[in-house]
Amino acid sequence: MDKLRKLYCSLNEYNPLIVDRYERVPSALANNNAYEAEVSGYLYNEGFRPVYKDGKKFAVCFSHDIDFIHEPKNKNSFFISTIQSLKRGKFQKVIYNSKNLLSKFQNPEWDLNRLIDIEEKHNILSTYYFLCLQNGEQDFNYTIESQLKSIGYLKQAGYEIGLHGGHEAYSNIEKMLIEKQRLENITGENTKGYRNHYLRFKIPGTWYALLQHGFSYDTSFGFAEQLGFRNGMCYPFRPYDPFKKAYIDILELPLIAMDVTFFKYMGLTVNSAFRLFLLIYEKVKKLAGALTIVWHNNQLDGEYGLLYNKIIQKIIEEEDAWVTTSLQLTDWWKENNLSKMEDILNDSILL
Ligand SMILES: [Zn+2]
Repeated sequence: MDKLRKLYCSLNEYNPLIVDRYERVPSALANNNAYEAEVSGYLYNEGFRPVYKDGKKFAVCFSHDIDFIHEPKNKNSFFISTIQSLKRGKFQKVIYNSKNLLSKFQNPEWDLNRLIDIEEKHNILSTYYFLCLQNGEQDFNYTIESQLKSIGYLKQAGYEIGLHGGHEAYSNIEKMLIEKQRLENITGENTKGYRNHYLRFKIPGTWYALLQHGFSYDTSFGFAEQLGFRNGMCYPFRPYDPFKKAYIDILELPLIAMDVTFFKYMGLTVNSAFRLFLLIYEKVKKLAGALTIVWHNNQLDGEYGLLYNKIIQKIIEEEDAWVTTSLQLTDWWKENNLSKMEDILNDSILL
């Protein structure tokens, strides 16, 4: 039981000695058995049976981190702004405008519409996490203000908009708040959902920061270099701080599969990647868990496109899957499953 307690609490990730350049704990040191949903398996054996909307048997949440995207430009305002900047000697702005114009030709994959078209074709509702950075910050390539139209479209179509925290937000509470406010100025509503860029995350600090800023859930909690169950859970859960002996009142939707993991990190072929996906998929389905998937909007070509298509086909053919947004799953889970699950956790694992 002690083993499951340590695993559930991610004890190996408190004050880690070894981290990568993005301050992430290597998966082999955090949990060397991440292909098994050990804690969820235990809860299931103890009688926990999650319920889902419309009698579905398990959940699937597609989501998208918008790291790179074109800024839509009105030609006239683009030229006026560039000429004015030139006259005023604001060369940084001129360079920025030029880069933006070039990126449309250089990076045709930095598109959002292709992704929206795929999801609309298959009636998939998902969550889009936008970066809210400013010029000069690492990986900045668009302002959130430039995405007003796309965000408006996504919102009215029923998609969820969440915050994709920048490189520093996970360990800088002020930055996290500033980025959240930038997004809220555009969406006009409270932002409930979060995933950090590069899955950067401090345990437990980032959870506490998210809680302080009023987020309902996080979904950064997965490994970049492998698929699976970071703390043995394929169920949404409230993190438990073993030092304070208390839950942190935020829901974690553990991230189970990320597009770049298959090819960039693991170097798999499309067929092997799909086999691995199916292996994980069957485990989540068997335990009536929630399968969370992140696919970047600029990863729809070549092997990425082929794999994404296979994954989508698999899921839309699955009658038992509730395909929904992260926030809908969060609200549903809190209402219908969380307390039953925590009763078992409290009585056994977390004793
Ligand atoms: Zn990102």
